[in-house]
Amino acid sequence: MRRPLVAGNWKMNGSREMTQTLVSGICSGLAEGGGADVVICPPYVYLDLCRQVVGEAPIAVGAQDLDAHEAGAFTGAVAADMLVDAGCDFVIVGHSERRSLYGEGDADVGVKVAVAVAKGLTPIICVGETREERESDVTAEVVCRQLDAVIAEAGIDVFPKALVAYEPVWAIGTGLTATDEQAQEVHAVIRARIAGTSEEAAGGTRILYGGSVKPDNAAGLFSQPDIDGGLIGGASLKAADFLGIIKAATQ
Ligand code: PEP
Repeated sequence: MRRPLVAGNWKMNGSREMTQTLVSGICSGLAEGGGADVVICPPYVYLDLCRQVVGEAPIAVGAQDLDAHEAGAFTGAVAADMLVDAGCDFVIVGHSERRSLYGEGDADVGVKVAVAVAKGLTPIICVGETREERESDVTAEVVCRQLDAVIAEAGIDVFPKALVAYEPVWAIGTGLTATDEQAQEVHAVIRARIAGTSEEAAGGTRILYGGSVKPDNAAGLFSQPDIDGGLIGGASLKAADFLGIIKAATQ
C-alpha cells in the first residue's frame, strides 16, 4: 500500500510574516498521527524559517528547484548540498513553470533528478501536457517522453524513492481540473511506463496529481487507484484549504 503524500508548492509567494502564520496554522490543524505525508515547498529564502516553525511536527520541507552543479561559480543558483544543509528532504523538479519560463528541457530535468537522489533528496518530478497537446491527443506521448528522459539520465533505480507529479499544464492555477477519470487514465500510463522497466519500482512509486486541487475536488481524485496524493499550488497558501486537502488524502 502506498502512503498518500500531499505537497504544497508556494511558488514565488510569501513573506516572513506570512510564512510564520501559514506554517503555524498548518501545524496546529494537522490531525494526530495523520495518515498522509505532508511536505511544504516555500521559496528558498524561507526554507530555514519553515524548518524552525515546523519544529517536531510531522511536516517535511522541500525546495521548488535545485541547480545540478556542485557549489561554485554559479551566481543565483542553489546546490543540492545547500538544500540538505537547510533541512530539506524533498525537491520539486521540472515544474511546468521551470520548463516553460526558464527553458528546462527533459534531459535537464533528468540530470537534476539524478543529482537530487545522489544527494539524499527525494525529487517530486513534474510531468504534464499543455492544452494544445491534450487537444492533439498526444498526452500519453508527452508524459512518456518526459519520464523516459528521467529514466535515461537518472536510471530506473531512482524509483520508488522519486515521486512523479502529473500536472496537466492547462489545469495549473486555472481553476480547471482534470476529471477523476482523465487524471487516473494518465496516472495509469505513467505507472505502466515505469513498469515497462521495473514492475517493482512502478508498484512502489507514488504518483501525485496537481492542477487546481481544492478541498472539494480532492477526495474524488485521491480515490482513484493510481493517484497517491497531490501537489498543491494555490490552495497550499491557505491553511484551512491545505488541511482540507490533507484530510481528503487520509480518508
Ligand atoms: C502547482 O503549482 O504545481 C499547482 C498544481 O498549482 P495549482 O494547485 O494552483 O493549480
